[in-house]
Amino acid sequence: MRLLQVALDVPVPRLFDYRLDGEIDGNLVGRLVRVPFGTSGKAGKIGVVVGEIAHSDQPAEKLKAVELLSGLPPLPEEWLELCRFCAQYYHHPLGQVLSFALPPLLRRGKRPREMKRKLGAGGTAPPPGNAPTPDQLAAIDAITGAAGFQTFLLFGVTGSGKTEVYLRAIEAVLARGGQALMLVPEIALTPQLEARVRSRFPAARIVSAHSGVADAARARAFLAALDGSADIVLGTRLSVFMPLPRLGLIVVDEEHDPSFKQQEGLRYSARDVAIWRARQRDVPIVLGSATPSLESFHHAQSGRYRLLELPERAVAAAELPTVAVVDTRRQKLQDGLSQELILAVGERLKRNEQSLIFLNRRGYAPVLACPACGWISRCRRCAANLVLHLADKCLRCHHCGLEAMIPRACPDCGNLDLHPFGRGTQRLEERLGTLFPEARILRIDRDSADSPKKWQALLDKIHSGEADILVGTQMLAKGHDFPKLTLVGVVGADAALFAADFRAPERLFSQLMQVGGRSGRHALPGEVLIQTEYPDHPLYRALADHDYVAFAREQLAEREAAGFPPFSFQAMLRAEAPELAQALDFLQGAVSRAPTLGPPTPSPALAGGETACAVPAMKDFSGILLYDPVPMRLFRLKNRERAQLLVEAKSRPRLHAFLDAWLAELYGLKTPRGLRWHLDVDPLEY
Ligand code: ADP
Ligand code: ZN
Ligand code: ZN
Repeated sequence: MRLLQVALDVPVPRLFDYRLDGEIDGNLVGRLVRVPFGTSGKAGKIGVVVGEIAHSDQPAEKLKAVELLSGLPPLPEEWLELCRFCAQYYHHPLGQVLSFALPPLLRRGKRPREMKRKLGAGGTAPPPGNAPTPDQLAAIDAITGAAGFQTFLLFGVTGSGKTEVYLRAIEAVLARGGQALMLVPEIALTPQLEARVRSRFPAARIVSAHSGVADAARARAFLAALDGSADIVLGTRLSVFMPLPRLGLIVVDEEHDPSFKQQEGLRYSARDVAIWRARQRDVPIVLGSATPSLESFHHAQSGRYRLLELPERAVAAAELPTVAVVDTRRQKLQDGLSQELILAVGERLKRNEQSLIFLNRRGYAPVLACPACGWISRCRRCAANLVLHLADKCLRCHHCGLEAMIPRACPDCGNLDLHPFGRGTQRLEERLGTLFPEARILRIDRDSADSPKKWQALLDKIHSGEADILVGTQMLAKGHDFPKLTLVGVVGADAALFAADFRAPERLFSQLMQVGGRSGRHALPGEVLIQTEYPDHPLYRALADHDYVAFAREQLAEREAAGFPPFSFQAMLRAEAPELAQALDFLQGAVSRAPTLGPPTPSPALAGGETACAVPAMKDFSGILLYDPVPMRLFRLKNRERAQLLVEAKSRPRLHAFLDAWLAELYGLKTPRGLRWHLDVDPLEY
């Protein structure tokens, strides 16, 4: 009788022993199985065989039998290795990692129906592409000439021809019989990009993977990648888990994009996992960005990554836009719009060009307020305000989706004169409408583009010139190319300068660079006007100079002084419960479990008798800092109260050794009903 270790999708970090009946030869590791599970033992669960053992700690008669699922190919060892790494690094149960990494259909033990394969255009010659510029050529040569694993940071402004470099590098890999994996942010995976890749490689089999792909197609893509018949995998973060037996190159476009980090379940960074995969397979990986993450830029500075630069736009006529600030301290704004910006929009209308008003809506959404008593519309389930949606005539919570009617009078004092407070896209749209009655205005945000179809329709409208003024949020910032767009106005950006999150300036800079890059990509010169009350802020000055490097250096110096990543490594323990006190208690209990791992040393940050008002309280366990548990900024979400505890260390291996031992303790803690907790390694949200 053979004994198997099976990983199951259950929230505990352990494997389960089963027996295999019958005479079956050969390696079973990587096979999908159905197993009885639970007290009744009747419910069938799908699992993955991850090991074979000589004997089990459980008595043989207690072991139940697995049923091998036929018709599904075994998962290769290398893929299992990838999942083991993620389980270890993100401290997440292996069974849950495997389950997440499999497409939903296979996760349920089913296989997709065969499809007649659409044959590629075959012999047609691909379009040649543009002759590379000398800078592009240098980058392509470096990547295709890499002897094995090497991380390249391809740093070049929007329109500098990064995509062209990726395509050339992919071409070289395909010619050598390899597979290529190209990861892009959620929002950048547009039909245009897919079409560009497909038309470039008409004979290649290209599969795409993102959350919008139907279950059957996703499973087919997975199987095609697994059996090696797919040549290129193009997708969002989840495609980093596609098996690729012939992998020859990985590309991560817009590597700084926060959407590469998953914020629930397995909280992985697809960029970081991609780098691990490239190392595992000893192949090159290209991280591309106009505004690299400060982590990546730091590694490029220290020589760990190789920096490749495309300092100029590829099309000679396309100049970088001029960037100027509008000082709004001494003028009365019209629904958030300055005189300068209004004039600039008017000029574009006269010249039959397009303008984009970009609203950084984080912390800047329109809520309903009562000027008489100070009441504002709040969500009753979350620690957040309800946002006014005039078009849908409702109030909506952007965190939990709760909808409420717009009250006719203030619920607190009965005042009938309620006002919107703050500037949302809809109010801007309205005001622009009264200022420019002849203009065709298009609002683009999550509400007006809530499906890929609507989104595409909006893009088509912009391209065909059926819109004069676009009003939008970050959805518009990425990957689109609007020939007639010559003005970008930025409204409400200041909030990010002083946000509690130390990454807020980095995000603002990259967003504004990206959105500015939408203008003037063709023969018409572009202009960016940023409205601000801090016209001398170094961030805006660096933007005006198109000087990412100056910005990055300044930010890195600040982070180094403060001991923030990339100069330290972090993990966040979060708990949520019906009562805030329960969540905080759990975290406090977690802190008290830590000392068993080493004696606390006095925290240097609190030495010298200084008051701890600016410095969060923390304990230092021989190099591992544990901050005090605090309620999260959004401390109530969907009626659950949330708190968190930051763990920080100067050394990554030490941090992980600590987390391993600590989590083993935490899994043993008794928790009150309804309390859930998780660990977020390398957190991006605070
Ligand atoms: P990025 O990915 O950096 O935004 P792209 O690769 O999309 O840049 O290139 C921007 C534009 O420049 C595209 O229209 C592309 O066709 C064009 N382009 C890229 N490389 C060249 C080149 N070597 N010669 C001429 N045009 C180019
Ligand atoms: Zn009131
Ligand atoms: Zn809510």
